[in-house]
Amino acid sequence: MKTNNTRRGICPKCGKEYIGVPALSRTDNETMICPDCGIRESLETLGLPVSEQDKILDVIHKHTAEMVQ
Ligand SMILES: [Zn+2]
Repeated sequence: MKTNNTRRGICPKCGKEYIGVPALSRTDNETMICPDCGIRESLETLGLPVSEQDKILDVIHKHTAEMVQ
């Protein structure tokens, strides 16, 4: 089963346009942010430094790019 909540929008956190399933920001619980920032916030919560967040996002991007094609 596949749900389709994909949308296009501008992320208020990083200011980039995104296409995908937005995430709810943990900072105020009402702002919709891009999937990348959603992942970053989760990783921040786990105490991972930005350099590690970048590595993980890089891996995720490679996998999602394969899925889209
Ligand atoms: Zn963002």
